[in-house]
Amino acid sequence: MSHKQVVLVTGAGRGIGKAIVSTLASPERLIYIHYSSSEDSAKELEQELIRDGKFACTIRADLSDSEAAKTLIRQIVEESGQIDILVNNAGLTRDQLAVRMSDEDYDAVIQVNQKAQFILMREAAKIMMRKRWGRIINISSVVGLKGNAGQINYAASKAAVIAMTKSLALELATRNVTVNSVAPGFIETDMTAVLSEEVREHYLETIPMRRLGQPEDVAATVAFLASDAANYITAQTISVDGGMNR
Ligand code: NAP
Repeated sequence: MSHKQVVLVTGAGRGIGKAIVSTLASPERLIYIHYSSSEDSAKELEQELIRDGKFACTIRADLSDSEAAKTLIRQIVEESGQIDILVNNAGLTRDQLAVRMSDEDYDAVIQVNQKAQFILMREAAKIMMRKRWGRIINISSVVGLKGNAGQINYAASKAAVIAMTKSLALELATRNVTVNSVAPGFIETDMTAVLSEEVREHYLETIPMRRLGQPEDVAATVAFLASDAANYITAQTISVDGGMNR
């Protein structure tokens, strides 16, 4: 069966990625739910969407392996003939003060958050350019815009996402392929569940809306950027952070 649009959302078994899949899913789209370790929840999400009359399938790749990132796009294109929307959402933290941070923790975060995003964009862009239509949406972070103590590796990777977004957007603009990023603030997921009550209270004071965001808040912005309403928007970073970045 051929679909109007083929979508890949990375890191979609849980958290923000899962909400993005639920928001983007429609009978016109085939959604690839990518996961690395969250197999059970990715498969549950797949079944839920299929029960609702949507088209979805799961696909596994460990994005700490560059070759696996490359193969991920190749496999999707071999199976479905196209890739129209790429949402680069998978990401991780390995927090530590800079003076104590190991090379391994620095590299691990850069590899998944930055290099794998680059490889996925590069491989998807080749297909989208030929089709003269495509949407690439990268999940950055408020930390990439403002920095954060204890997150020098994560901040570097998320600032790089914004710089890569702008650069690739310029290369693809005349081909009708838009490239944008979304910079969430503090969103309630497993990533922020590990924060102590004290750190949480401290962050709340920095959020003008005085509450953490929900994965659905980010998903709604991604859905907008993927829609025809955003046809003339490229090279942008949209903050979804309750007013933190201003
Ligand atoms: P999360 O709940 O911790 O989920 C992280 C996701 O990344 C999981 O789906 C995980 O897949 C995937 N992932 C991690 N390492 C991977 C690897 N080596 N290979 C493939 N996939 C990998 O985080 P989240 O809060 O939903 O975050 C999603 C994105 O939003 C991330 O890029 C994050 O940096 C960004 N963000 C989050 C916040 C926040 O406050 N939560 C704020 C700003 C930006 P598996 O579970 O399948 O392994």
